[in-house]
Amino acid sequence: MAAPARSVAVPAYSPRLLAAALLSIGVLLLLGYLVMFDQGAVSHSGMYLHELMHDGRHLLGVPCH
Ligand SMILES: [Zn+2]
Repeated sequence: MAAPARSVAVPAYSPRLLAAALLSIGVLLLLGYLVMFDQGAVSHSGMYLHELMHDGRHLLGVPCH
């Protein structure tokens, strides 16, 4: 007969998972900023990024022009 299964304590979160979650949130916030609000000040792309995302800005209701 097999030995009874022992319960193993599993942490609800780990430092690596927390770091990955915070990094993901930071990247998503930066991407959201670049898509919705950047006018070239952060991306140094002039108006290229603005023009590329222009229809998306209007679709999301972001103030544009
Ligand atoms: Zn516009």
